[in-house]
Amino acid sequence: MSRVNTKRENKELFVIPERCKECGFCIEFCPMQVLRKSPEINSKGYHPVYIDDIDKCTKCDICGMVCPAFAIGVINTEKKPVELSEGCKSG
Ligand code: SF4
Ligand code: SF4
Repeated sequence: MSRVNTKRENKELFVIPERCKECGFCIEFCPMQVLRKSPEINSKGYHPVYIDDIDKCTKCDICGMVCPAFAIGVINTEKKPVELSEGCKSG
């Protein structure tokens, strides 16, 4: 999995090339048109998506919303572990 930090420091765009099925939805719907099909082939025989111009990516996560394979998207790197209340703890 590749992760790339762009302007919004607490968010990262990720791509998992092995999951990509080359449907092209993310390329079509990316408002910044920064995604391309790679000339490489993954183990399933598809050309996976890669990010061509990361500086233009706004981390809107539209690519993540339209990808049926969960192969691309934006993650929040600032998420903190949830504190369990006393009632939820076991033992
Ligand atoms: S996060 Fe938004 S701008 Fe960045 S690649 Fe995905 S759809 Fe395009
Ligand atoms: S939407 Fe997902 S499966 Fe389709 S080309 Fe983009 S990354 Fe690959």
